Amino acid sequence: MRTMSDSKRVDSVQDESRKVVGSIKTGCCVVGGGPGGAILSLLLARQGVPVTLLEAHEDFDRDFRGDTIHPSVLHLMDELGLAERLLQLRHSKLHTATISTPDGPITVADFRRVDKKFPYIMMVPQAHFLEFITNEAKRYPNFWLLMGASVQELIEEDGIVRGVRYRASDGWTEVRATLTVGADGRSSRIRKLAEMEPIKTSPPMDILWFRIPRQPEDPEGVLGYLGRGHGLVLLDRFTDWQVGFIIMKGSYSQIRAAGLETLRKEIASLMTAFPDRIEHLQDWKQVSVLSVESSRVPVWHKPGLLLIGDAAHVMSPVGGVGINYAIQDAVVAANVLTDPLKAGKVTTDDLAEVQRQREFPTKVIQWLQAQGQKRVIAAALRSNQPLRVPWFVQLLLRAPFIGDLPARVIAHGVKTVHIDQK
Ligand SMILES: Cc1cc2nc3c(=O)[nH]c(=O)nc-3n(C[C@H](O)[C@H](O)[C@H](O)COP(=O)(O)OP(=O)(O)OC[C@H]3O[C@@H](n4cnc5c(N)ncnc54)[C@H](O)[C@@H]3O)c2cc1C
Repeated sequence: MRTMSDSKRVDSVQDESRKVVGSIKTGCCVVGGGPGGAILSLLLARQGVPVTLLEAHEDFDRDFRGDTIHPSVLHLMDELGLAERLLQLRHSKLHTATISTPDGPITVADFRRVDKKFPYIMMVPQAHFLEFITNEAKRYPNFWLLMGASVQELIEEDGIVRGVRYRASDGWTEVRATLTVGADGRSSRIRKLAEMEPIKTSPPMDILWFRIPRQPEDPEGVLGYLGRGHGLVLLDRFTDWQVGFIIMKGSYSQIRAAGLETLRKEIASLMTAFPDRIEHLQDWKQVSVLSVESSRVPVWHKPGLLLIGDAAHVMSPVGGVGINYAIQDAVVAANVLTDPLKAGKVTTDDLAEVQRQREFPTKVIQWLQAQGQKRVIAAALRSNQPLRVPWFVQLLLRAPFIGDLPARVIAHGVKTVHIDQK
């Protein structure tokens, strides 16, 4: 583990209730080493802000993650001079998003039509992306990464958040910071500790999540199927397919009662490319149930504290845009907060400015996701017929400009952001 420079470990004292209490002083304490927290840390570190990134897990390898790097993120990497090296990581490229229907495959997004430089979504295991970003941040002596550091408490004094307390294998440590950023994802502990209650909507679906083996001759990227009461997404993880089987919200107990053989048959009937492969699903223990959520906190900040990414707005997986949005939040946060952090004083107005720039694009994408969930996915889940896309929608998808909108929104989000660094 690296030693601290600007972020200083200043003392270590015994505490009655806990084993050891160490203490760290830093400029920005970022909680959560997902895409949002990692990018924010890198951007602040590059600007000379002392930054400490706390990640609860010992590594970045996690199952419940998307593996998509969208064109907007590739452009941001390009602005940092990192795109070329990032693209050297083993990856596949997704040039179109296509769903299989009884009328044949229908392309809902063609990224070649909306981006000249990066006309694809880069599919790379998220763990590799996060390692790449944090390794880059480690080049700066004012960056400190602490893995296995699970934040449990906020330090609040006179109504201002002054940092956090985390627990690691060697005991408890206190991190005092000018600003604390909660980038700790959909079940954000920071959000709960700060009593920032999100407004939730209830997407009509849950997802069964498991892996089956992938063969070298299989297609690359993402495969999608919708119809006959279910949806299926397969994400290419090189040696495996990560399978997401979309079911009606709350229907897991019924599916389980019907038995594994029934589930296998249903999946095989959708997974027309290689129906036999589902035989590798042999035990319910292989299956995780993901409750799909969508929510947004009305105010993303408190004095001394900011939420970004899923901590501020849990994204439904529809359209696979959550990573994009978390990273765009991080870029805006770095743009707005670098100077105040360097000056050692971050005001409520500074924090409100981050929310002002990011709230509208977030509201728009969550509204679009809700429409997709209600009009397409819920309709497909309720019907026991294969999905038929109306002819006028098929026509619109082929039309110039209007037909490009889904690809544009998936590739770039609702509002493009740029890195504002000297
Ligand atoms: C099954 C699934 C599939 C998805 N597929 C896609 C996709 O294909 N494309 C896409 O763009 N989005 C996808 N998403 C959404 C996407 O993963 C999220 O929107 C995105 O990861 C949010 O990034 P984040 O940095 O805000 O949070 P996260 O990626 O959730 O990162 C939060 C980090 O905080 C850490 N943490 C949590 N609590 C603490 C604590 N107390 N102390 C310290 N650290 C803590 C966690 O370990 C984690 O590493 C998917 C989501 C799910 C659940």
